[in-house]
Amino acid sequence: MNDCVFCKIVAGEIPSRKVFENDRILAFEDINPKAPTHILLIPKKHLENLNDGASDPALLGEIVARSAALAKELGVPDFRLVTNTGREAGQLVFHLHFHLLAGRRMGWPPG
Ligand code: 5GP
Ligand code: ZN
Repeated sequence: MNDCVFCKIVAGEIPSRKVFENDRILAFEDINPKAPTHILLIPKKHLENLNDGASDPALLGEIVARSAALAKELGVPDFRLVTNTGREAGQLVFHLHFHLLAGRRMGWPPG
């Protein structure tokens, strides 16, 4: 956990462009955006991914609800919310995060 990049962002040890914060959640811009709007929503506490995060459904619900509120605030009511769970699914950072992607037409299924 000490070398977790998102824990460092929560601690302010790595700078980020924050778009929302409360006691439990942080949302910030992805450093390498894959869409015109690309926000990451994370729990402040370290959970590896959704397998780990399933232990706290209230927190997951809050993050999902917050993503919709943020999309509305940002003027992008059409959006995609993605959480890559495990290496094979494309997870590179092992601190639970939800990608909020919007601002362009997106294909299905994702590659
Ligand atoms: P994953 O592939 O794990 O689902 O996505 C990790 C995401 O974190 C990637 O989209 C990547 O661009 C983003 N990311 C990695 N390191 C940093 C960082 O230091 N700051 C920010 N803002 N985003 C990061
Ligand atoms: Zn972490």
